[in-house]
Amino acid sequence: MNHNPVVLIVEDEEAIITLLEYNYEKEGYTVITARDGEEAWLCIQETIPDLVVLDWVLPKLSGIELCRRLRDRTKTRNLPVIMLTARGEEADRIRGLDTGADDYLTKPFSLSELMARTRAVLRRIRPALAEEVVTYGELVIDRSCHRVKRGELDVHLGPTEFRLLDHLIQHPGRVFSREQLLDAVWGSDVYVEERTVDVHIGRLRKALNKTQGKDPIRTVRSAGYSLDESFAR
Ligand code: CA
Repeated sequence: MNHNPVVLIVEDEEAIITLLEYNYEKEGYTVITARDGEEAWLCIQETIPDLVVLDWVLPKLSGIELCRRLRDRTKTRNLPVIMLTARGEEADRIRGLDTGADDYLTKPFSLSELMARTRAVLRRIRPALAEEVVTYGELVIDRSCHRVKRGELDVHLGPTEFRLLDHLIQHPGRVFSREQLLDAVWGSDVYVEERTVDVHIGRLRKALNKTQGKDPIRTVRSAGYSLDESFAR
């Protein structure tokens, strides 16, 4: 599971593509680009990104039309779209949002404004993707480099343990059954025995509790596991 949000930039002006690509990558996003609406459409059929930054006027298929198509499909109905356009008129703005864009920026726009809007849109729609570094009590999880620290010490986790912790930390205090953890961390179409969850929770615990201190993970009898809320205090 890749925690770098994937941004698809759909734009036909080379200079703007370069600028956006540079800035999104600098902020830790993975960038895909498309030069016209049709290319973008094909691209999305293959991989659904986490966000689309979409120019209004594009060759072949316009931004508006592409947005409309995305909204018509179940798989892409909730895909966040930020529209970019040279048109600044109120009527266009409303039309853009009517088509289903989540936000709308008029060219020339400031990059810091675009980045802020991007974070806001992602936070609203996919809260788990928005922050790169999550702190929980003594624990610090850095998603960009898959590193975990407890206080000053590095905690070495395998990929599954990392995903487990990352999932729990998104919902502190909430109790997850083994089945829910399997779905969230392993994927619902993978067949894994529920006991496997216990094994990985055990490993996660061991790694987190190498030093003295409180165990951040709570076992809830016959229910499952949760991240102990009192650990954050
Ligand atoms: Ca254009």
